[in-house]
Amino acid sequence: MSQTIAPILGEATVQELREAVRGAVLTPSDDGYEEASSIWNGMHDGHRPALIVRCGGAADVIAAVGFARANDLTIAVRGGGHSIAGFSTCDGGLVIDLSEMNSVRVDPEARRAFVGGGAVWGDVDHEAQAHGLASTGGLVSTTGVGGFTLGGGIGWLMRKHGLACDNLVGADVVTAAGSIVHASESENPELFWGLRGGGGNFGIVTQFEFELHPVGPIVYAGPIFYPAEAAADLLRLFRDWAPGAPDDVTALVNLTTAPPLPVIPEEWHGRKVVAFLAVSAGPAEEGEALMRDFREIAEPVADLLGPMPYTVIQSLIDPLWPKGISAYFKSTNLSGLDDELIDALCRIHLDTPGPQCEIHVHQMGGAVARVGEGETAFPERSMPYVLNVVAGWMDDDVTDPHVEWVRSVIDVAAAASTGRAYSNFQGDADASDLYAPETYDRLVALKGEYDPTNVFRLNQNIEPSEIS
Ligand SMILES: Cc1cc2nc3c(=O)[nH]c(=O)nc-3n(C[C@H](O)[C@H](O)[C@H](O)COP(=O)(O)OP(=O)(O)OC[C@H]3O[C@@H](n4cnc5c(N)ncnc54)[C@H](O)[C@@H]3O)c2cc1C
Repeated sequence: MSQTIAPILGEATVQELREAVRGAVLTPSDDGYEEASSIWNGMHDGHRPALIVRCGGAADVIAAVGFARANDLTIAVRGGGHSIAGFSTCDGGLVIDLSEMNSVRVDPEARRAFVGGGAVWGDVDHEAQAHGLASTGGLVSTTGVGGFTLGGGIGWLMRKHGLACDNLVGADVVTAAGSIVHASESENPELFWGLRGGGGNFGIVTQFEFELHPVGPIVYAGPIFYPAEAAADLLRLFRDWAPGAPDDVTALVNLTTAPPLPVIPEEWHGRKVVAFLAVSAGPAEEGEALMRDFREIAEPVADLLGPMPYTVIQSLIDPLWPKGISAYFKSTNLSGLDDELIDALCRIHLDTPGPQCEIHVHQMGGAVARVGEGETAFPERSMPYVLNVVAGWMDDDVTDPHVEWVRSVIDVAAAASTGRAYSNFQGDADASDLYAPETYDRLVALKGEYDPTNVFRLNQNIEPSEIS
């Protein structure tokens, strides 16, 4: 556990903050602090913020930013708390916890959702599906809308409707100066550009406005699991199928270990498998034909691909990724998937330090690639695949082998990497090689305008060129 390095804040000073906000202010001596200070990723848990402010609205966020600056406290911003690199906590600083700002209002006529800065995707899907609508959210329903969208947002609807950030219409942002500004195509457009892929660098979003689309309520979706021996054939089929697949479908291949779930035959639990997962966001009755080829390559271990409610596929894998698990992810964008890489991935899949070590190959393209490079700060659009290597474990003793395994898979794929990566799938805090140089320079200029002293630095940080 990390040591507390809290600066000396007198009770009178903390009282000023309590009086300035409507939400709770928690210090280490308050009931509820231990629970409030924990984040999703157990690998980064155990930090001791001096203060946690559970903001009730934008005014609380403004007060908390002002208080932190006046008292020279590091700020950590927490939306859903899912940061892989552990950005949403700190030692001795102030956590601006947005989790109670999770309201979602849907305007079904305009097909818009107005979403609080601390909502999670389950909140959005619940409200939007009441109208048969959805926007691109994450594969796990407890992931925060905030960090997810600001980093880009890869999800099942992306090839049909774009990344989460492509569906962002506007945002209310509390800046480092403590003012609140709106960002959209017409208002503060450069800030709006930076919010769509540049992460939490430019301020705290208190409300997002998203475009919604008709989806479901029944979609054709789910995984098919095969024995690991089928992995190379499956990846080759996936590679040959992906470029011609309609935009309705978004798929991924997961080289993994069969989880001990009742839907998988018990004799397979703990054995190496490969899964094809897909969602067809078009009419459910058309989904079967779109994915028929995948049913013919091998005898499946379990075939769960079929019609299901959209909200079910959006939360299907939640139990596999509970709060408190230690996790490390690393990604790289792939320019292709040649036989050599496929064979190398299949080999390294068989040699993992634990059962929850997964190699995800995400199918990109479609609507993601139709947005011009540079139109948003999202680092790259044209790559056909994103490789995301994921490890989860419970015992601290096995941290190093898991981190090393993830890095070794990324090394194996180096020759096929475009050189760019997706910030939200990075377990390390370094933004310098995520973006193309021209995008990075533009982000640095924007940072200089909105956060010249790097108040918001616990993120994939864009350092302002001159800290004033
Ligand atoms: C189990 C799991 C599944 C995932 N699945 C996917 C997936 O399918 N697709 C995908 O693209 N990513 C996925 N991710 C990665 C995810 O997008 C990032 O971890 C993201 O940062 C989570 O956002 P959050 O708000 O929950 O994070 P938090 O830890 O709360 O925040 C992370 C950072 O985001 C910023 N931030 C958050 N909210 C705000 C806000 N309102 N205003 C300003 N800044 C803010 C801050 O800089 C903060 O430090 C997954 C992560 C996990 C743990």
